[in-house]
Amino acid sequence: MPGGTLSTRPAVFTSLDVHDVRFPTSEHLDGSDAMNPEPDYSAAYAVLRTDAGDGHEGHALAFTTGRGNDLQTAAIHALAPFVVGRRVDDVLGDLGAFSKEMVHEPQLRWLGPEKGVVQMAVGAVLNAAWDLRAKRAGQPLWRLLAHLDPEEVVSLVDFRWLTDAMTQREALTLLQRAVPGRAEREDELLRRGYPAYTTTPGWLGYSDEKLERLAKQAVADGFTQIKLKVGADLLDDVRRMEVARAAVGDGVRIAVDANQRWDVGDAITWMRALAPYDPYWIEEPTSPDDVLGHATVRRALHPIKVATGEHVANRVVFKQLLQAGAVDVVQIDAARVAGVNENLAILLLAAHHGVPVCPHAGGVGLCEMVQHLSMADYVSVSGTWTDRVVEHVDHLHEHFVTPVQLENGRYRAPLALGGGGEMLAASIAAHTFPDGPVWAARRAPQAVAAEGILA
Ligand SMILES: [Mg+2]
Repeated sequence: MPGGTLSTRPAVFTSLDVHDVRFPTSEHLDGSDAMNPEPDYSAAYAVLRTDAGDGHEGHALAFTTGRGNDLQTAAIHALAPFVVGRRVDDVLGDLGAFSKEMVHEPQLRWLGPEKGVVQMAVGAVLNAAWDLRAKRAGQPLWRLLAHLDPEEVVSLVDFRWLTDAMTQREALTLLQRAVPGRAEREDELLRRGYPAYTTTPGWLGYSDEKLERLAKQAVADGFTQIKLKVGADLLDDVRRMEVARAAVGDGVRIAVDANQRWDVGDAITWMRALAPYDPYWIEEPTSPDDVLGHATVRRALHPIKVATGEHVANRVVFKQLLQAGAVDVVQIDAARVAGVNENLAILLLAAHHGVPVCPHAGGVGLCEMVQHLSMADYVSVSGTWTDRVVEHVDHLHEHFVTPVQLENGRYRAPLALGGGGEMLAASIAAHTFPDGPVWAARRAPQAVAAEGILA
């Protein structure tokens, strides 16, 4: 290149930045449930940057409810050596290998293995890498995933500890069976959007009047399923179920969610008291680790369905829930397990067992991210949306670059590039903890009071 100085050096990752972003949601009891009475919805927010000069960055987050962000941000920082300085094409071209490197790193793995803060940190970094890959490919993430060759999807999944339930060959066969219908389903998805349900009416801290008004609004907005938080007080729950059932009528499903509040026996007794109001599923009746407990609850409460997954640590526990016949509904979460890769494993396991996946969402950006996984599942994994709904909660979407779009109770398939988790720079700055203006303003009165005491 005469006179040219253009470098042919391959692009590398230059940084993994982490932001501690928190929203003071506890002030209005948005997000309140039986185990989380005053959550401050928070994001341990990761940004991957490169020197490719293409203007693209990878953004994603791990969701916490406040102080957990101290640990979650530190864990994401600890993964910087896996990515900074590495060639972009090498990492993005083999995200299966990248995932396994981080998940199996011996010193960090000791803290799990494959669960909790470290797993969620891996998820944030991997999801940021997927966001970047989709942006560089000029695709929304759902479409990038839906168009992958079945062989590549299988290469992205860690089959260690899964093969007694599903072999690589079985997964490949399942994916290959979906290939002929992909184009037709993609058209259908673009035309109609993906079915959703709403939790907006049902937070535990809301008054009966607010519950009734929001439940009626949900039906008017086209939702065919709502969800109520339960588990704090039985008489309150019976009354709230009565209010909700009267508000929505008989044709709308009402799911209930105990957020792990009960022992197994309590779950059965409590749900029998709510049974006259026809609850569709009971979500997280007990500990997310209690596979056999879920199976007992399911047998006792049939035909009420049992749902769980937003706190299920990894694909192995999902495998057991399916093997034990412990769940009717699998609830993946975009930010709980090790990212897109592990969620693909769970989608494959659920499809292999013929169990519907109805993702957990809400929080901060979880709707924006998880919709991509359900849409890819519809096009290229399970190939169906029968009895499948993605949760929708009407909070905090205004902080995202490409907020979800709901239309007549369905998620419109996003066409914007990437994985959906990118937050507005102004929102990050305003809500950075503890020194962003939103938190500085709230700290001021206490600081003044404390100084008064000290003086
Ligand atoms: Mg829940």
